Amino acid sequence: LTALALSLTLAACGQSSEGGSKDKKTGGKGSTIGIAMPTKSSERWIADGRNMAAEFKKLGYKTDLQYGEDDVDQQVSQVENMITKGVDVLVIAAIDGRALSDVLHQAGEQGIRVISYDRLILGSPDVDYYASFDNEKVGELQAGYILDKLGLKSGTEKGPFNIELFAGSPDDNNTRYFFQGAWKALKPYIDKKQLVVRSKQTKLDQITTLRWDGGTAQKRMDDLLTSAYSSDRVDAVLSPYDGISIGIISALKSDGYGTGSKPYPVVTGQDAEVASVKSIIAGQQTQTVYKDTRALAKQAVQMADAVLNDKKPEVNDTTTYDNEKKIVPSFLLDPVSVDKTNYSAELVDSGYIKESDLR
Ligand code: BGC
Repeated sequence: LTALALSLTLAACGQSSEGGSKDKKTGGKGSTIGIAMPTKSSERWIADGRNMAAEFKKLGYKTDLQYGEDDVDQQVSQVENMITKGVDVLVIAAIDGRALSDVLHQAGEQGIRVISYDRLILGSPDVDYYASFDNEKVGELQAGYILDKLGLKSGTEKGPFNIELFAGSPDDNNTRYFFQGAWKALKPYIDKKQLVVRSKQTKLDQITTLRWDGGTAQKRMDDLLTSAYSSDRVDAVLSPYDGISIGIISALKSDGYGTGSKPYPVVTGQDAEVASVKSIIAGQQTQTVYKDTRALAKQAVQMADAVLNDKKPEVNDTTTYDNEKKIVPSFLLDPVSVDKTNYSAELVDSGYIKESDLR
């Protein structure tokens, strides 16, 4: 029997491997927080982990910070180990939103409270709180930016413009929120043929990018350019994440975009990663969505600290995030659209990125 199977068996018999109590000890100082992050392949998650560990330390907590390297099984076993070691609270940004139900059942049996970080964990009743951004608004900001740049607003006859659509990983719950926000804004113009998706790939399951992988996006963009743009130009690309945007831009560059007669299309993004902000300054990527991960880390820490001290965490949304077992009380932060005109004010002045890192 694995430790998990053993505790599941014990739990089914109404016991816990930790000695029978369903109520984990409370009281802040000295408690350990298990932090499970998805990958180090993107700056934001490195910053998220680092920021949370620092904030928890300030309050006198210990932390166990693990990265799953985009490997679902690895993340599940990391969380399982944290439970076995007896962490007091779990903060998890899931790789696959549906893969954690069994292991979280065990956490629930042991009274370990679970905070879903940035990405909502699905199909499990053992999720206590959710700290994230307004995910639908992220998509609205990306699509709204494209419409603005192309000069499309209601009442104009402009167009048609060619657009292609990219979405995030199909196993990340955020993906459908980002796309939903963008699609609502774009659809009226697609219906009026002021925006044309020449590939005809407009359904979410046709446009997702497994594990948000830039190489996968580059390959798909290569294919789209070959199959749908041999005699036409693409004017805009909806991209949900900076790493995907970089892949898209590589494909565009190989196809001769970025020259006087064939300028880059409008390309959106998300996370304000250094490489993408540099690309924006260089006139390649056009926009990104900045989500202050420092503020998100603070929210998650506030939630954990509250539950460990028998207080109610502050939430600002109790209706949106249904994980199919319950509506998870959430604190949602505001994302901000960033381009060449405001990156300095938003990212540099706020200390999110050092000016010297952009040179
Ligand atoms: C996050 C985004 C990030 C993406 C890829 C999403 O769940 O909300 O900020 O760009 O994952 O890491």
